[in-house]
Amino acid sequence: MGKMKHPQSIHVDLRALSGMSHRCTGCATTDACCCATYEVCVSAREMRAIIGVLPMAAEFCPGLKGRKGFDNVFEEVERGFFAIDTHENGLCVFAYRCEEGIRCALHTVARRMGVPSHQVKPFACTLWPLVMQEPPHAALSICDGALRFHCNKRRRKVGDISPEIIDAIKNLLGGAAGDQIARAARKGIRTARVALQGPLAGEP
Ligand code: SF4
Repeated sequence: MGKMKHPQSIHVDLRALSGMSHRCTGCATTDACCCATYEVCVSAREMRAIIGVLPMAAEFCPGLKGRKGFDNVFEEVERGFFAIDTHENGLCVFAYRCEEGIRCALHTVARRMGVPSHQVKPFACTLWPLVMQEPPHAALSICDGALRFHCNKRRRKVGDISPEIIDAIKNLLGGAAGDQIARAARKGIRTARVALQGPLAGEP
């Protein structure tokens, strides 16, 4: 899950999207847990949003707090893009364990604040297991290797995208785009081009 740049419209790989369902049920261990698998990079704007909620995130991840304030958990890997630190076992520093398994403190904080998760949580994490390839071939598809995670299941109902994935698309692209994509998939269309609004277009 790397940096995200935002095109104005995007191809949607309907065939790939209809081939998988996704439901996060919380991982019991770091084996095949998305939060322990990828290097997550954020833009400067995403980093500032995360820094703004560090005190709340630290309620779930006390390790974020150092002796003299909050530790810097970002490393600039490319101009304007910052990788989030992980623990030695690869688990993201914003992951925490609770009865429901491994959860994201930033997601929990967003829910507590009553804001959409992408306003606080890294965009790449909000999108996963969907992935947006970067321009000039921008396309919304399924992340390579997604089926090795137990929260993702192969679907054989061709021409129909799972309700969870349609919901995720609606959150990111808006309800009209989600409906357009669902209709196109039902008609057996393999790819569709969709105008971007909201977070996928880089808007807050
Ligand atoms: S930011 Fe949250 S969702 Fe993303 S890897 Fe870290 S814990 Fe997981």
